[in-house]
Amino acid sequence: GDGVKVLVTGGAGFIGSNFIRHLLARHPSLSVVNLDLLTYAGQESTVSDLDGHPRYRFVQGDVTDKREVERLVSEGFSAIVHFAAESHVDRSIAGPDPFIQTNIIGTHCLVEAARRARVQRFIQISSDEVYGSIPEGESAGPGSRLDPSNPYAASKAAADLLVAAAVRTYGFPAIITRCTNNYGPWQHPEKFIPVLITRAMAGGSLPLYGDGRQVRDWIHVEDHCRALAAILLSGIPGRVYTIAGRNSLRNIDLARRVLKLAGGTNSRIAHVEDRPGHDRRYDLDDAATRRELDWRPSVPLDAGLEQTVAWYRENRWWWEPITKSESIPFQARVGSP
Ligand code: NAD
Repeated sequence: GDGVKVLVTGGAGFIGSNFIRHLLARHPSLSVVNLDLLTYAGQESTVSDLDGHPRYRFVQGDVTDKREVERLVSEGFSAIVHFAAESHVDRSIAGPDPFIQTNIIGTHCLVEAARRARVQRFIQISSDEVYGSIPEGESAGPGSRLDPSNPYAASKAAADLLVAAAVRTYGFPAIITRCTNNYGPWQHPEKFIPVLITRAMAGGSLPLYGDGRQVRDWIHVEDHCRALAAILLSGIPGRVYTIAGRNSLRNIDLARRVLKLAGGTNSRIAHVEDRPGHDRRYDLDDAATRRELDWRPSVPLDAGLEQTVAWYRENRWWWEPITKSESIPFQARVGSP
């Protein structure tokens, strides 16, 4: 159609797929092209219900493939929302190469293609991890120093710096968003909350890194998507937006809550050796984002966790084949997102 065309990368993944559904449902003038390589993290089944949607098209492709990316981007898009990434910290510690490739080189390819095609908005989806561990009593805001602790976080910070440099050098109309930990439907079963839920359901033990006192902030993916839609429509180019759920708690307390909801006693929690370079605490100051976008999260943590547990109960067809078909070497010692 002649509406606004948005290119979403990584739209077969957790947040990207939720975001595409959100856009298609809430913004009838937008059409979406989803560029995703379908790595181990991206499932066709996650977006198969969108097949045949009149405002949706799927393209299987690699964001690091310069020629492919240029050809697709030159079709003409009003905006690019860039989710595609290697996203699991444990995997980055075991082998950083694909993180450098996809997260840094991939972002570079997209920025270059978008710049040449004069795309009017580029949204770089980043993470609170780029700030590293935040001392008790402090929080990181949009301008805080980047101080990543693990290869995943470093690759995201590097990509953010490339985007920021394009803004300054070329006036590239990009926005960077940094969000805290997401949870909700369609999250890969290797990630912390899905591990807790699926283990609790199966009657297994719940592995927890170290003392379990690492503090993370949690936001329901739908609240994140609403913030991103607001940023897509009215965010200011050149800005960094921090997005938080203001639900900070220790991993051990989160594990206890999930056990209560999914069934099982706290004795199922098994402390395992801590992850190297494990950040103790993340905390984002999102005051400016809330003020400027007139946005705030609407899903309370308990209600969101309950809904998420119910979703994993009802959607075994989606996650069971994933846990069976490929090796998830990290599931045995997952304990923090
Ligand atoms: P995910 O792993 O669920 O999805 C990533 C998607 O990217 C997958 O569909 C995968 O197939 C695709 N992909 C990977 N490499 C690709 C490549 N070379 N070319 C094209 N597609 C490729 O990740 P997610 O949790 O949905 O995270 C999405 C984005 O949000 C990431 O950039 C991540 O850094 C960021 N983020 C995530 C969280 C969180 O809590 N999950 C928090 C803050 C920021």
